[in-house]
Amino acid sequence: MELVFVSLKNDLMNFLYTVIFTLIVIIGVSCTEKNQYIPDDVFSIKIGSNVMKIYDTIDISLEISGEYNINPSVEWSASPGSILHTGSIVKFVAPEKSCIVSLEARIALKESIIIKTTDILVYSQLVILKADDMICDGNNEVSPAWRKFTDYIISKKIKTSIGLIGNSLESGNEAYFAYLKSLSVSGIELWNHGYDHEIRYLEGSGYTWEFKNKPYEYQKEHLNKTQLLAYTTLGLILHTFGAPANALDSTTLKLINETADIKVWFFGMKTDSKLVILRNIELEYPTGKPDFEKFVVNYRSDYDCIPVQIHPNSWTDSSFSEFEKMTDFLIGKGVTFINPYEYYILLNSF
Ligand SMILES: [Zn+2]
Repeated sequence: MELVFVSLKNDLMNFLYTVIFTLIVIIGVSCTEKNQYIPDDVFSIKIGSNVMKIYDTIDISLEISGEYNINPSVEWSASPGSILHTGSIVKFVAPEKSCIVSLEARIALKESIIIKTTDILVYSQLVILKADDMICDGNNEVSPAWRKFTDYIISKKIKTSIGLIGNSLESGNEAYFAYLKSLSVSGIELWNHGYDHEIRYLEGSGYTWEFKNKPYEYQKEHLNKTQLLAYTTLGLILHTFGAPANALDSTTLKLINETADIKVWFFGMKTDSKLVILRNIELEYPTGKPDFEKFVVNYRSDYDCIPVQIHPNSWTDSSFSEFEKMTDFLIGKGVTFINPYEYYILLNSF
């Protein structure tokens, strides 16, 4: 009898110890959660890409970094567009028109709400203007043709990228540098179009180009000279490259892959390390002569992205009006003008 009583007493004591221990743990945990400071930057919105096509669907999730044992509730909203499902992993459906979508995650913690936002560029078609051959002329002046073109782009609130020929930055022409800096401030992307833009035809030996059939060290020197000149005269790091006459070879591929600052390659060779913009439509027939009718015949609305190579410095007034017709046609189609490095950033901003 005494043994049974002792056993019951032990069981009761064990039970009480367990209850007390559990209570201590629960109180401890709840106090910790209550007082736990969780910095804002622990949370981030993970999204496959910040650029997507109309009607497309993309996965979005809330990422929590660090050693935090939390499971907050998340409320998503998108304007415009719609969110499917609830919780920390949802789907976003793009609207039917080109726009910038503001995506918001409201994260409810025990005693605070954290709001995270990101923008998504939704497009029906992307248009990248690739304007080649920026130089200043023999009198160290920017030509009226270039000024007319850049004034038009800015007044029309569209975008263009312009290929700088590096040796034009050696002249020490402050007015030219100020003009280029003002273009950059206006949202025009300046890119590396080689140093001397060599395209020569020699009787008997054919064409020679700056970046094709040239040794590695030669190509490297020419690419880097323009990078350095842009940095020292304009304070700009160029992120896009396009070879003169789009003439290049496997040596150029090796060089571009090794050049960390270059992220985008116009009409380049296939490589996983850079965004390569592929040529698919023309405005100029032949080079330097815009022809709107031919552009329309070859235009395809199902291309995701159309890079249009142009040479505004060689245009007459009638050439310019062909270009104006093209931009009005594209605006009517609801396209989005975008610059190459901006496109790269949006693709890689997650
Ligand atoms: Zn060129």
